[in-house]
Amino acid sequence: MPESRHNPVLAGQTAVITGGASGIGKSIVQRFLEAGANCLAADLNEEALAALKQELAEYGERLDVVKVDVSDRDAVEGMVDRAVQTFGQMDIIVNNAGIMDNLLPIAEMDDDVWERLMKVNLNSVMYGTRKAVRYFLERGQGGVIINTASLSGLCAGRGGCAYTASKFAVVGLTKNVAFMYADTGIRCNAICPGNTQTNIGVGMRQPSERGMAKATTGYAGATRSGTPEEISAMVLQKLKTDAEKQVGQPITQAVITVLGEREHGAPGPPPLGAPGRAARGRKSEKFVVSHRDATAPLSHTRHPPAQTRTRAGEAGCKPAFDGEDRRISRQNCHERRADTE
Ligand code: NAD
Repeated sequence: MPESRHNPVLAGQTAVITGGASGIGKSIVQRFLEAGANCLAADLNEEALAALKQELAEYGERLDVVKVDVSDRDAVEGMVDRAVQTFGQMDIIVNNAGIMDNLLPIAEMDDDVWERLMKVNLNSVMYGTRKAVRYFLERGQGGVIINTASLSGLCAGRGGCAYTASKFAVVGLTKNVAFMYADTGIRCNAICPGNTQTNIGVGMRQPSERGMAKATTGYAGATRSGTPEEISAMVLQKLKTDAEKQVGQPITQAVITVLGEREHGAPGPPPLGAPGRAARGRKSEKFVVSHRDATAPLSHTRHPPAQTRTRAGEAGCKPAFDGEDRRISRQNCHERRADTE
C-alpha cells in the first residue's frame, strides 16, 4: 500500500491535471487521488479518459474527467471553472499536456508544426497558469501551479527546435510567475523530466534523421529511461516538503528536474550530473537538479537556500550539465539527491 494512503497530504484539496489520461499526467492523477485529493483529469483523448475513469473507479466522484483541447483558451478556462463548480475549489493545477515535434531541426521545420507545437506546449501553459493565478488571487489563499517542461527546457540537444523552444519558454514563464507572485502564497514550479516511458512517441511519425541522430548523442551514460511513477512521486514529495515549509516563511519557487535513475556502478559518466557524496554507495540514485529560488540573491547560487532542501536535508551545488549548459548550471542550478521514496 502506498505511503500516501497512510498520510493523505492532499486530503480535501482539488487538483486539475491536463494530459491526465496518459503517461506522466495519468500517474500524477493516480498519485494525487491516493494522497486524498479530488482530481479533474483533462485530456484531448476521450477514449483514454473513459478508460481512466474505469480504471480508477475506486475513487468514485473524487475523479472527474473532461475532454479539453489545451490549445483552446476558452476550453482551458472552462476546465478550471468546472473543477471549482464540481469540487468547490481548486488548489493545484498541473499544466502537463504536451506533444513532440518529430525532432525537427530548424531547416526542416514547417510553420504548421511550429504553430501547433507552441499552441499545445506553451500557450496552454499560459492559459492554465493565468486562469489559476487569477482564481488564486481572488480566493486569497494561495495555490500551486506545476508546469511540465522537460530536460529540453534546460538544454538544447534533446528535442526538435520547436519542442526545445516551447519547453525553455515554459521554464521562463514558470520562473516569472514564481517571482511575480512569491508574496501571495502562490507557488509555481516546473518539472523537467528526462526521457520517460510514456506514449508521447507514439504519434511521432517520420522523425527527422538529423534530429534523431543528434538528440540521441550523449545518452551513453543514461542506463535507462525514467517512469511516470517516479516523476509523480517526486511531484508529491515536492508538494509535501513545500507545504511543510510554509509556516511563516516565504514560499519556495524552484524549477525541479528529474533526470531518471543511474544504476550504481554503471559504466560511463552519470546522465547529466554527478552524485552527491551522501548518495554514493547506494544501489541506485535519483537526482533532482533544482534551479535556485527565483527570489534568492545571486550569492546563494553556490549554496541552495534552506527552502530548497529536501527532507533528507542533503544539499550540494556543482555544475549539473556538461558543455554548452555549464554556464547556465553554474549560475542557476543546485544539484541534490531527490528523496522521493
Ligand atoms: P503522453 O503522450 O503519454 O501523455 C500526454 C497526454 O497529453 C496524452 O493523453 C494526450 O492525449 C494529451 N494531449 C496531447 N495534446 C493535447 C491537447 N491539445 N489537449 C489536451 N490533451 C492533450 O506523454 P507524456 O510523456 O506523459 O507527456 C506529458 C508531458 O511530459 C508533456 O508535456 C511532455 O512534453 C513532457 N515530457 C515528457 C517526456 C518523456 O520522455 N515522456 C520528457 C520530458 C517531458
